[in-house]
Amino acid sequence: LRTELVNVERLSLVGQMAASITHEIRNPMAVVRGFLQLMKEKSPDSLDHYYRIVMEELDRANGIINDFLSLAQNRIAEKEQWHLHQIINDLSPLLWADANLRGQTIELLLDEQVPKLHLNAKEIKQVLLNLARNGMEAMDEKGKLTIQTRFRETDNTVELIVKDTGVGMSKSRQERLFEPFFTTKAKGTGLGLALCLSIVERHGGKIAVESEEGKGTTFIISLPAAES
Ligand code: ADP
Ligand code: MG
Repeated sequence: LRTELVNVERLSLVGQMAASITHEIRNPMAVVRGFLQLMKEKSPDSLDHYYRIVMEELDRANGIINDFLSLAQNRIAEKEQWHLHQIINDLSPLLWADANLRGQTIELLLDEQVPKLHLNAKEIKQVLLNLARNGMEAMDEKGKLTIQTRFRETDNTVELIVKDTGVGMSKSRQERLFEPFFTTKAKGTGLGLALCLSIVERHGGKIAVESEEGKGTTFIISLPAAES
């Protein structure tokens, strides 16, 4: 199953998003407030535990604000000629560390024919990182994440493919994936894929998803190659 998503109008629902973000930020803030209150009342040996929760929730609120701002600004970031493989190499240590912690493996399949692209490296790194993290979060310890590149000469596009052997998704879930704040995770923000889509569209590209429940999910980003 393949769902193509073109999605500018969803992202312009700024009003709805503002309402959601207020809610999303209030949650961690309320947790932090409650635990600070408890810290004051309770005995010192519970402090370590409370401290950890407070820090986690503050980081979470911070992450939501950062992602939301990148999404809401929706500005044209400066682009330069970059090799996609350079971006993958730069992120590799981080991705491998993540995968190691989970006991998962990563396979790289890089197409030597891939030409340089006109892109904003920071943004495309964020896309790859979000897709890779989602993939890892969808798998157990035996999972394998595949990161692949492919040059499609016929339409002069470059594909960045992130594939996992995780839980997969139902059709109805696939339809909601890119909605800001849609998450099925207890500690998710639901902003990762909304941000990915916004970045890819600003690069003139597309995102496609293929997924099967119990088998895994593949995200295919296709980006226009620079004029030769
Ligand atoms: P978050 O990761 O914070 O939940 P995302 O926007 O990154 O937010 O993803 C939204 C939702 O899409 C996830 O909560 C999950 O339900 C689903 N999802 C995303 N990537 C995958 C994947 N690789 N496999 C299964 N489900 C996924
Ligand atoms: Mg995510």
